[in-house]
Amino acid sequence: MAAFRKSGNTASPDRSSAAPPGACKPDVATTIDEVRGRVALHRRRHEGAVGLVPTMGSFHEGHLSLMRAARAETEFVAVSIFVNPAQFGAVEDFDSYPRDTGGDLALAAGEGVDLFFITDSGEMYPAGHESTISTGSVAEGLCGQARPGHFSGVATVVAKLLNIVGPDSVFLGQKDAQQVAVIRRMVKDLDFDVEIRVCPTVREPGGLAMSSRNAYLSPEEKDQARALYLALREAREQVAAGETGAARIRRQMRRAIAANYLVELEYAKIVDPETMQPVQEITGEVLAAVAAKVGPARLIDNMILSP
Ligand code: AMP
Repeated sequence: MAAFRKSGNTASPDRSSAAPPGACKPDVATTIDEVRGRVALHRRRHEGAVGLVPTMGSFHEGHLSLMRAARAETEFVAVSIFVNPAQFGAVEDFDSYPRDTGGDLALAAGEGVDLFFITDSGEMYPAGHESTISTGSVAEGLCGQARPGHFSGVATVVAKLLNIVGPDSVFLGQKDAQQVAVIRRMVKDLDFDVEIRVCPTVREPGGLAMSSRNAYLSPEEKDQARALYLALREAREQVAAGETGAARIRRQMRRAIAANYLVELEYAKIVDPETMQPVQEITGEVLAAVAAKVGPARLIDNMILSP
């Protein structure tokens, strides 16, 4: 197995301590050329399908569940770790976003990942880089409203990663439902030859959706943040019991969340799961989506509601 570690690169942790005894150590690449070389070698050997799990690191069970799904469905699993500045606004948490590459590799050591692509802006956006993906209406509502440019940044980096790795399947979390919709739209519109696999949201025991940003929360904030999950669950139950009025569901979600003084609701909406456009009358599957500020963290969550 070729080793792709660049010496002197702070983004490349010591792999020798990352894997438990007996586990197969993944390669770690820090450049696009290294990734292409490793995937090409796999392709030349006709060793089966390639799966990609794009992440910003700071792994939790949600990330690991994507790696497991990729491991189960593809023969070569590539995981990228890149905190992508293009998807953070000027006043957002890019600088303070949790980063722990060594811990990430240790956590993922048992997941059978073949290749980690741990990279940085110098590699992904070298001087002169100016082409981006322009997103449409699917990226305008919900988080797109509070985070202008966010989904263009997401789509651009995912397009680049798809071109760099050339996977057969890309594994994404339902937790970021609008991100999934934006990437689905891009893959369709720009004819990327990749299958999109969406994995269920992994939650803390109390229901809070796992997120790297949960690390920002105090115990009390974490407890109150559960209101997002509880409001979504109640909405799901109401729709399953026959409620068809989206406005009533939205009101109920807002009321339930407002009862928690540490949770500052940004939106609680009912939308079409594919287009992200608002729905008034619930006649088929819809997506209930919420976003809120809790202390220093901006949290999102969602649930599919079926009549
Ligand atoms: P991030 O590192 O936050 O960019 O997330 C990388 C991938 O992990 C994205 O596809 C996310 O949707 C997915 N993900 C994040 N949190 C969860 C979760 N709690 N459950 C399932 N997938 C998740």
